[in-house]
Amino acid sequence: MLPPSVSFSAQFAAALANPSPLLRRFERLIAPVQDRGLEALARESQRLTRHHFGRTMRLFAPLYLSNECVNNCSYCGFSRDNGIFRVTLTVDQVVREARYLHDLGFRNVLLVAGEHPKFVSDGYLQECIDALKGFFPTIGIEVGPMEDDQYAEIVRHGAEGLVVYQETYHRETYQRLHTAGPKKNFDWRLDCPERAYAGGFRRIGIGALFGLAEWRHEALALAAHLEYLYKHCWKAQFTVAFPRMRPYAGNYQYEPDENLYLSDRALVQLVCAFRTCFPQVGIVLSTREPANFRDSLVHLGVTTMSAGARTEPGGYTGAGSDDLHLTVKGRRVELEQTTGCEKATEQFKIDDTRSPAEVAAMLRSKQIEPVWKDWDEAILATP
Ligand code: SF4
Repeated sequence: MLPPSVSFSAQFAAALANPSPLLRRFERLIAPVQDRGLEALARESQRLTRHHFGRTMRLFAPLYLSNECVNNCSYCGFSRDNGIFRVTLTVDQVVREARYLHDLGFRNVLLVAGEHPKFVSDGYLQECIDALKGFFPTIGIEVGPMEDDQYAEIVRHGAEGLVVYQETYHRETYQRLHTAGPKKNFDWRLDCPERAYAGGFRRIGIGALFGLAEWRHEALALAAHLEYLYKHCWKAQFTVAFPRMRPYAGNYQYEPDENLYLSDRALVQLVCAFRTCFPQVGIVLSTREPANFRDSLVHLGVTTMSAGARTEPGGYTGAGSDDLHLTVKGRRVELEQTTGCEKATEQFKIDDTRSPAEVAAMLRSKQIEPVWKDWDEAILATP
């Protein structure tokens, strides 16, 4: 367990109230800016990206294991009170999905699951990792937060990347949007990257879901979090992401407030501000974003992209479609009528629907090398 006094949650309020010189610089870079200022920022961001990452783009695919969840997050289709088609893939079905992605060229996979101890039970994740590690050198997880000793076990099984987004760094908004389940605990989630680091993860991704609270506040808090992690968890590599709200099963309503909405222009500014203040951080851009917008960002600071992504369990091969059900108050409820064509409900709609090969071709056309594999366990093996 981490001593509470050294955790980010204990220092979060002070970090925002008394920003460091780096955070003050970051704050200036995300302030309203004229076109000429943004162009200069973009040029600097491009220069730094080339310097630190070359002309490369890492590609990965999410693999959804389960859309069961005990939490109610007002913005997510998997929320427990949504009457959606649910399924948890068997390990064999997970392998089928993974083989499909492997055949497309991927060697970097992110295992994603809702938080449900009954369906995504103890040992399940480990079994999935065991089954995949023979042919996927890079395995990340995006699942419910755990204790550091649980993370250590996941790492021992072969995962080395963890993604955990705070969703919103605005405490009051967080409390309002997380109405049930263990995710209600803001500080527990905030300290998750540190527990993952203590457990041995070497790649850690953080981010916020933009559209829930005032975007400049989210960005500054995310930068404060990153600065803290670089100081305290310095052996790890970090990535940041700025996912924007997308349509999903449920009806989260945007508040009509331009301070909440992260426009395309503001997202460009945000990418460049992070690159300028944190030159070595990986920046992730998912298929939530439209293809032409993704293409325009590949030179400006983004270093990692998903491609051909599906956001439902079994989305690549149809695996698990014969086991769809509802889950009501934690209990499985069989579907009354089926057409045989149903599939598990997705978490959110993606926008860039191009195949991985098409995304790779787009990158090459811009003289950027798509990187399918950038890690192998053998790198750390002792001779
Ligand atoms: S955001 Fe995550 S924790 Fe919340 S309902 Fe969706 S899957 Fe569950």
